[in-house]
Amino acid sequence: MESRNPFRELPSVDALLGDERVRALAERHGRALVVRAARSALERTREELRAGYEARDVAERVASEVDLLASPSLRRVVNATGVIVHTNLGRAPLAEAALDRVREVARGYSNLEYDVTAGARGSRQDHLASLLRELTGAEAALVVNNNAGAVLLALAALAEGLEVIVSRGELVEIGDGFRIPDVLARSGARLVEVGTTNRTRVSDYEAAITAETALFLRVHQSNFRVVGFAERPSLPDLARVADRRGIVLVDDLGSGVLRELADEPTARESLAAGAELVTFSGDKLLGGPQAGIVVGRADLVERLRRHPLQRALRADKLTLAALEGTLAAFRSQRAEIPVLRMLEEPAERVRARAERLADLTGGEVEPSRARAGGGALPLAELESFACALPEELVRPLRLADPPVVGIVRDGKLLLDCRTLADAEVDEVAKAVAACRSR
Ligand SMILES: *Cc1c(COP(=O)(O)O)cnc(C)c1O
Repeated sequence: MESRNPFRELPSVDALLGDERVRALAERHGRALVVRAARSALERTREELRAGYEARDVAERVASEVDLLASPSLRRVVNATGVIVHTNLGRAPLAEAALDRVREVARGYSNLEYDVTAGARGSRQDHLASLLRELTGAEAALVVNNNAGAVLLALAALAEGLEVIVSRGELVEIGDGFRIPDVLARSGARLVEVGTTNRTRVSDYEAAITAETALFLRVHQSNFRVVGFAERPSLPDLARVADRRGIVLVDDLGSGVLRELADEPTARESLAAGAELVTFSGDKLLGGPQAGIVVGRADLVERLRRHPLQRALRADKLTLAALEGTLAAFRSQRAEIPVLRMLEEPAERVRARAERLADLTGGEVEPSRARAGGGALPLAELESFACALPEELVRPLRLADPPVVGIVRDGKLLLDCRTLADAEVDEVAKAVAACRSR
């Protein structure tokens, strides 16, 4: 028996860097990255030796480590969960029309803050204003980074140092720790809670008004509903009181929609019902990029625009381009917005997709329930169909390229086909075949 110590036979990092294959990698990817890859290849090899395995060719391993380190971290994922606006999976996939605008605007210079007619400085806030006015009936509009930012900006600009009245039934947590009372505190406004969790009346708001009251904030309940013995004032009733007492009424719609969609209030309806400012997200049911949209009375929007926080919260040109493309697609009603397609696709079409996927993968078609997600329509379940596969495939499919994410139910992996695009069916089938042959 020879008594050799396999750990001693491992090359040093320097020796590895001298290897011809590794030198070629360093030329392509830079020395720093390859050194990191070499260290981690050595570490993995040591782990295997400790576990009693034979050592593999370390230089070869450096190459796969380099692949790993050099590949992008933020990647496309196939969403087979049936949750349409999936917060962990990037919310709304963009419409082709929106992507076209991003490419066009971002690949070169743009008139982001330049008025080509006047040959003078312009405002980035002007590009979307007229589309948003047209789609919501508002006097003015403003776009910031996300809806949390829109709410923060509205409160800071209109109520800093003053009181904001909110119903206890609307002090919501949206997700990831985003809580309305915390945002309110950060804005410098003071929260005045009225009513109870399940019932708040106009008289509760009225009784809480002081000389310091600047604003009534209505907040869409988003991800939950109070059912049973519940009451909250209608927007017109609240608007009447606000108007009489000189208080601004702001309606945070959360998701926000631009046309009828189940029981979600549209921005236009909210403004027509008396809200003076309405805020909503760009990447929930609107199906666009992450953005916060504020529409409403021109003098109020102007106060937001002039507030220093606007500069910190403003949207960048990629967002503005994608949002303009999304809104234009929405207006033309010809171009497809993926979120709306998934929400409205007839169940039969989803079933056909599930059948095709089941045929290609040897899976079974099962009825399932899809959801809107993104804190919208929490009670609505959309009829859907999934392709059921063995649960063992959960992890390998998640590690595929692109990763495929489904849901586990009753010991099976369900790939819900409402959130799959037609073109993704073949891709998923290929990934399943690759996992099975391994
Ligand atoms: C989702 C939501 C927000 C936050 O919007 P983001 O675009 O995620 O920042 C704020 N208010 C309500 C009511 C929401 O549902």
